[in-house]
Amino acid sequence: MAASAALGPSKSAMLPMRPANPAGRDVPKVRQENAAMEQYTLQGIYDELRHAARAGDQDAAIAALERALGVTLPRAAGLAGPGRCVTRLSYRGFKPAELAMLAANLKAVVKFEDLPLPSAQLFVRRHAARYTLNVGAPYYKDYLMLRSRKTGLLGEIPMTFLYASRDDAGERLRALERSRPDAIVEAGDLLGFPPCCARWFADVFERSRHEQDTVNDDAVYALLRATMARPGLAGLDPLSDLDLLAFYPCGPTCAAAAAFAERTLVALERSAPASAAKARADLGAPVLFWRIPFFLVFDGEPADEAHTPGPGPGIRYRHAHLHIFPDPVVSRIQRLFGGSVLAAIDAGDLVQIDGGDVVVYAENKEVARLRGSGARPPALGLWDRSRFFFDEG
Ligand SMILES: [Zn+2]
Repeated sequence: MAASAALGPSKSAMLPMRPANPAGRDVPKVRQENAAMEQYTLQGIYDELRHAARAGDQDAAIAALERALGVTLPRAAGLAGPGRCVTRLSYRGFKPAELAMLAANLKAVVKFEDLPLPSAQLFVRRHAARYTLNVGAPYYKDYLMLRSRKTGLLGEIPMTFLYASRDDAGERLRALERSRPDAIVEAGDLLGFPPCCARWFADVFERSRHEQDTVNDDAVYALLRATMARPGLAGLDPLSDLDLLAFYPCGPTCAAAAAFAERTLVALERSAPASAAKARADLGAPVLFWRIPFFLVFDGEPADEAHTPGPGPGIRYRHAHLHIFPDPVVSRIQRLFGGSVLAAIDAGDLVQIDGGDVVVYAENKEVARLRGSGARPPALGLWDRSRFFFDEG
């Protein structure tokens, strides 16, 4: 039980399920056995990044960021100021949509993830009479890899997960996750996810474990790259605490996921109207994305290829904000990254991806370029706010 809680990839409540750490994926052991290779893995680079950030070595931190993200970053821009930062996705605490799903009985079981242990315990005390509740083992969160870890810093509050159901569905899900942590499609079925989306996530998970083991990153990246071919339905935007699905849709216009999101919003309007209004306003904001910890959120709109100077679609914008987590070390790293990229973004009003480069234009003239190393180009997240749930095209 501790193993699954401590090492399973976790993505807060948006993960279709939390596949626990399969045998042989013990990172510290791999690191000992394979120290020479480790420096080339994302986990190894992130370890260097944390170390540089704690030591206050900005040059070393920028160099590690460049390797992790495959981008050349302008130097000496300083940290993005608090006014440029926004926390859109926190991986911490109850999500309004999931509380609404539970209250409206939309699913057999709701699995809340990344709850600070005291708030999970408080929830159990308040709601034990109404629901069958099971609290998981405590763990700590790695806000760079977006996975759980076994140990925390001194004073760090542990996280946990919580199964809530009206019958024994929570127990059944917990038993399945313990005995068959890779049974993603079966768990998705218990959690009420559309089969197309559960199967898609199972494929992403399978590929991810053979690569960098960053399943949340890989799922979001694939989804956002797909929005570049055609903007997605805004109600399926996963990069927000106001997310309406609690799973990844198999594609940015999946009809089954859209129907699910619409049911959730109706339930949310009943139980928490302020959150519902905020979801309608916030979901579908365009983003420029390297990895989950490192993305920008724009006050702007998608621009199609016919109306842009460079190749492919773009984002026309008025302002950009840096997404940060409520974690002191990681948010400092994010602000270092943000200071660097925002200096380029602030010079223009349109951003596009050209090969692996990010190109910034002002009045359709190129004014800045962040060169990519070619490994993995960044993604634009493009959502059509006029098609929140329905595919009319
Ligand atoms: Zn689907």
